[in-house]
This record gives sequence, C-alpha cells and structure tokens, in this order.
Amino acid sequence: MATIIDGKAIASEIKTEIATEVKSLLDHGKPAPHLAVIIAGEDGAALSYVNSIEKQCKGVGYICSAYKFPANVPEKDILATIDFLNSDDEVDGYIIQMPLPKQVSIDKVVAHVDPRKDMDCFHPVNMGNLLLGKDCYAPATPHGVMELIRRSNIETAGKECVILGRSNIVGKPLSMMLLHKDANATVTVCHSRTKNLKRVCQRADILIVAIGQPEMITVDYVKEKATVIDVGIHRIPDPAQPNGYRVCGDVKFDEVSKKCEAITPVPGGVGAMTMACLLQNTMKAYKSRQ
Ligand code: NDP
Repeated sequence: MATIIDGKAIASEIKTEIATEVKSLLDHGKPAPHLAVIIAGEDGAALSYVNSIEKQCKGVGYICSAYKFPANVPEKDILATIDFLNSDDEVDGYIIQMPLPKQVSIDKVVAHVDPRKDMDCFHPVNMGNLLLGKDCYAPATPHGVMELIRRSNIETAGKECVILGRSNIVGKPLSMMLLHKDANATVTVCHSRTKNLKRVCQRADILIVAIGQPEMITVDYVKEKATVIDVGIHRIPDPAQPNGYRVCGDVKFDEVSKKCEAITPVPGGVGAMTMACLLQNTMKAYKSRQ
C-alpha cells in the first residue's frame, strides 16, 4: 500500500505558520493582511469555495472582503469593482471567482487586474514571470502541488514527470514550475490529443493528473513505485452513500494506491492545499506592499 500524502495535514501546517506570522504582525501594531474576492452568480461550488475562503481567512487572522453580485451583473460593475480594489490601499490582493457570467468578458477582466494584487496569477505579467522563473504569484493549485511535493520530500530532480492536462490554471503553470532549476524534473505534458497516453504515463516517476475525468486513470497507467498526484475533484452518484454521492478524483485510488509508492487522496490531497497557497500568496502580497 502506498504512502498517503496528507494534503490536509500539510495545508494545516502552512496555515499554522501563517497564523503565527499574522499574530506577530498584529502584536507589532501592523494591520492584518487583507484578501478580497469577487463572485458573480449562483454557482454552488463557487459559492461554497468563497464561503470557505472567508472562513479560512478568519482562521488565520486575515481580513476578507467578499463582493457578491447576481448573475445578471453588468460587466461595467465588475470592472469598476476591480478598479476600486486596485486603488484600495487596504487590500493586499484579490481573486475573481470563476465562472463569470457570459456577459462579462474574461479578457477585459484580466486586463483590468493589477498584477501586484493578482492572487490567481491570471495576468499575463504574472504568467510571463512564472514562465521566466522569476518571483511571482503562482496560481494556487499548481503552487499547492509543488508544496505537497516539497514538504513530502519527494525528489523531482532528474525524474520523469508526466502531467495530464494542459489548462492555463493547472497543467501549463505546473509544467513550468517542475521544469525550473529548483525542481529540475524532465516534464511531459499530455492532453486529449496525446497518442498512446497509457504508454506515456507508464514512464512517469511522478504522474500528475488534472483532466477532469472521474477515475479515468486506472492501475495500468501507473509505473510500479511512482508518485501519483490527483488534482481532479468530482462528486459522482453513489446510492450506497447516505447523501447519494461520493467525492473522487481523476485517479482510481483503490487500485492505483496498491501499486504506486505515494499518492494523494481525494478529498484531502491537492484540494486542501489550494486554499493554503492562496493564503500564502496573500501574505507575499502583503509583505511586498509593506
Ligand atoms: P480543464 O477542463 O480546463 O482541462 C482539462 C485538461 O485535460 C485539458 O488539457 C484536456 O485536454 C485534458 N483532458 C481531458 N480529457 C482527457 C483525456 N481523456 N485524456 C487526456 N487528456 C484529457 O480542467 P482544469 O485544469 O481546470 O481541471 C482539471 C481537474 O482538476 C478538474 O477535475 C478540476 O475539477 C480539478 N481542479 C481541482 C482544483 C483543486 O483545487 N483541487 C483546482 C482546479 C481544478 P485538451 O486541452 O486537449 O482539451
């Protein structure tokens, strides 16, 4: 049986570090870090994520302001809120929760974001800095994956690392992070047009899966003793459960965990880290503003 990489425990370690730092700031008469969130519409998952951000901010001593809009919000109101947050000296950083309603152009929204307050790493300046290996706000999920790997002492240097998924928020930035000289992995990125996917995956010392396909990655994709990081998160119907569903990832955990060396569970793996890394980004923004 593989070692279970406990994202919850590692996230909790990070949050404790942050809470200690906030306490020391407050003890020295400094203001608390301040994160803002913009959300539009009634998407259940997005609303619950924003609620969770508010709760977690409170937990570490941050100020959190949530700007909640109905689904029919005019685009100009979102842009005006972004302009307001850019100029508000009390706000260190903000995120814009996806999905946005269709009348709001993502390109216009991103163009309005001040890169110094861009906790999502949406802005091309931050994406560019990430590509160049410069100091920047890394997007929270890939940042969380890297923290999990580092804090679990998983060696990346010289390792074959295969990433499934090439999205702008997970696969692509993660490939850059693993390629940089502090990680030194040999990186392959796969997508829906990759040929012989199974064979490519079988090469991986570290297999990172972010494809949005519930439990697609079965034991035959995985090399003996590999490390498997599952970014996917899904609710699938399960009549055996009292609430009628269960949460799973992109990896078939039960069978893969019997073959690999280490694996992240879902829930309790990468998902737990995303929030902790958003809080880390906010502290970084706070320090650079101070
Ligand atoms: P996207 O849908 O944006 O991207 C999915 C990627 O997977 C695409 O590159 C797509 O290829 C590729 N893909 C889809 N199906 C296959 C397949 N059968 N074989 C090979 N490649 C495939 O997803 P995200 O990156 O936003 O998210 C991925 C997963 O991670 C989702 O389950 C999401 O819920 C989860 N997630 C979890 C987070 C967390 O905090 N734990 C945060 C963000 C995401 P192509 O480009 O060719 O279409």
